[in-house]
Amino acid sequence: MVNKVDHIGIAVKDLQETLKFYEGVLGLKSAGTETVEEQKVKVAFLPIGDTEVELLESTSEDGPIAKYIEKNGEGVQHIAFKVDDIEAAIAEMKEKGIRMIDEKPRYGAGGAKIAFCHPKSTHGVLIELCQR
Ligand code: ZN
Repeated sequence: MVNKVDHIGIAVKDLQETLKFYEGVLGLKSAGTETVEEQKVKVAFLPIGDTEVELLESTSEDGPIAKYIEKNGEGVQHIAFKVDDIEAAIAEMKEKGIRMIDEKPRYGAGGAKIAFCHPKSTHGVLIELCQR
């Protein structure tokens, strides 16, 4: 169903400050930033090999990333797996008894179609299905 790690999502307090580490120290290059209003986040994607690091900064105090940081601090927030057909993947997940946060695909940064699986069904990891 899934064929590679599309990206790793990291919750950060300050995107610009964080880029100093990822670009300045690790030498990655941001492919640009985008604000996704629906999820109340500003996102930067940094390609590395055939995958990407996704840095997520909340644009609102009540956004999911702000809540995540309040509870857990900064850090890895989700892992995204690439799928070819997200509708089929969601249907298969549900059929196999996996609890989905998103039963329908929603808009993700870069024009991707995404859906999150509930961590209670995935042994504690917030898994994003992502179709490019
Ligand atoms: Zn993501």
